Amino acid sequence: MLSVDQLLTNNRAWRDQTERERPGFFQSLASQQQPRFCWIGCADSRVPANQIIGLDPGQVFVHRNVANLVVHTDLNCLAVLDYAVNVLGIQDVIVCGHYGCGGVAAALQPGSGRVVDHWIRHVRDIAKFYRNEIERELTPTAQIRRLCELNVATQVVHVRESPVLQTTGGREVRVHGWIYDVADGLLRDLTPTVDAVRAIEPARRMPPC
Ligand SMILES: [Zn+2]
Repeated sequence: MLSVDQLLTNNRAWRDQTERERPGFFQSLASQQQPRFCWIGCADSRVPANQIIGLDPGQVFVHRNVANLVVHTDLNCLAVLDYAVNVLGIQDVIVCGHYGCGGVAAALQPGSGRVVDHWIRHVRDIAKFYRNEIERELTPTAQIRRLCELNVATQVVHVRESPVLQTTGGREVRVHGWIYDVADGLLRDLTPTVDAVRAIEPARRMPPC
């Protein structure tokens, strides 16, 4: 079994190899960061942002939580988003969910009474809202996969509608919705479907304020 000491040894080996291959790499990162992308993803250990999009340290600004949620009262996420967009000047925000998400699956099960249930409640609300869409899927697995997609679409809209994106001074910020399949290692772009997803059951929507 891996020990914590082994992790420190791994770090030293990785650092030495990186420095051998690209002398000065860490020194160049020490003075500033200029990431081009902001990533909002799930905390799931199988979805490491940098690794699955092939980026080095310094290239992507990352926020992760259970089920990749963007909640309007979550100061943690909003602070990341604000810093990314309004300080670092990032113009591409990626919300990335994944199939097989335990947080999303839990939203279709009875609550366990744990703290994480309070967080998952946000996904339960999405599941209720899109109940007909989800129940159209014939198997529990397919229903979870559909909710994973609907969750990404919803979080993309949350980013787009966030007051943080209203203070960019007219600078365009693109918000993308992706989903990663832990079973094949591939990302799929859901962005073109976000508007279609949000058009479902429009009569139940609150009018824009
Ligand atoms: Zn997940």
